[in-house]
Amino acid sequence: MTKDWYPVIDYSRCAACMTCVKFCPHGVFDAKDEKPLVLNPESCIDMCRGCAKICPEKAITHHSSSK
Ligand code: SF4
Ligand code: SF4
Repeated sequence: MTKDWYPVIDYSRCAACMTCVKFCPHGVFDAKDEKPLVLNPESCIDMCRGCAKICPEKAITHHSSSK
């Protein structure tokens, strides 16, 4: 089964504050070159929107083909 729920960062909005990297308890994000990366999308919890809610720039949406 292909993972169908994971965060997508809009880098045109992202301020690289790293709040999402520190926040996600499942290690979905990592930082590279001082930017957040979605490194482990398969670890994201279905229908969790925690990181999207705490992102101060509203730069995170979630990929889903069913919603
Ligand atoms: S919380 Fe939002 S603004 Fe901050 S690094 Fe993550 S995506 Fe970028
Ligand atoms: S939606 Fe939840 S589990 Fe997925 S990356 Fe964001 S905080 Fe982590």
